[in-house]
Amino acid sequence: TVKPQAMARFETEKTYVMVKPDGVQRGLVGNIISRFETKGFHLKGLKLFQCPKELAETHYGDLSEKPFFPDLVDYIVSGPVVCMVWEGPGVVKSARKLIGATNPLESEPGTIRGDLAIEVGRNVVHGSDSVENGEKEIGLWFGDEGVIEWEQAMSPWLRE
Ligand code: GDP
Ligand code: MG
Repeated sequence: TVKPQAMARFETEKTYVMVKPDGVQRGLVGNIISRFETKGFHLKGLKLFQCPKELAETHYGDLSEKPFFPDLVDYIVSGPVVCMVWEGPGVVKSARKLIGATNPLESEPGTIRGDLAIEVGRNVVHGSDSVENGEKEIGLWFGDEGVIEWEQAMSPWLRE
């Protein structure tokens, strides 16, 4: 029989990660993708996309009462974004760690925001904050086309 801890390693989840317009304009797309790719997560969706205003408003719906909400929506639609779905064990929490704290001045060095940004309103990247919101956001941003299910050849070198 397989121990519960061993089982947990095989459980996998998906998260929605997005390079925001400042990250795209600043030429940081490769750098950001590289961190998830070299960590060992599995790329399931990827596109350059011009976000319509309604989608930005829905995506950040929980923040609609915040004073910065109109600026946040303007920021997200100000240029193309890069939308991604990454899969792996614990990927939601791990992606948030790789991304760093919301305010880049409080993000640890070594994180994306800690290394590449200085202001909360230009913090280069988004990552889902829970498995449930990840599913919701993947539906929102990839609902039409869905994600691609494919086998990663190196998976036996990443997963015991
Ligand atoms: P995240 O999950 O770390 O991205 O942070 P939140 O979900 O709390 O906020 C969503 C996004 O709104 C952040 O990534 C920022 O781009 C923006 N934001 C959050 N707080 C502030 C703020 O106080 N001022 C401004 N200008 N933007 C903010
Ligand atoms: Mg958030």
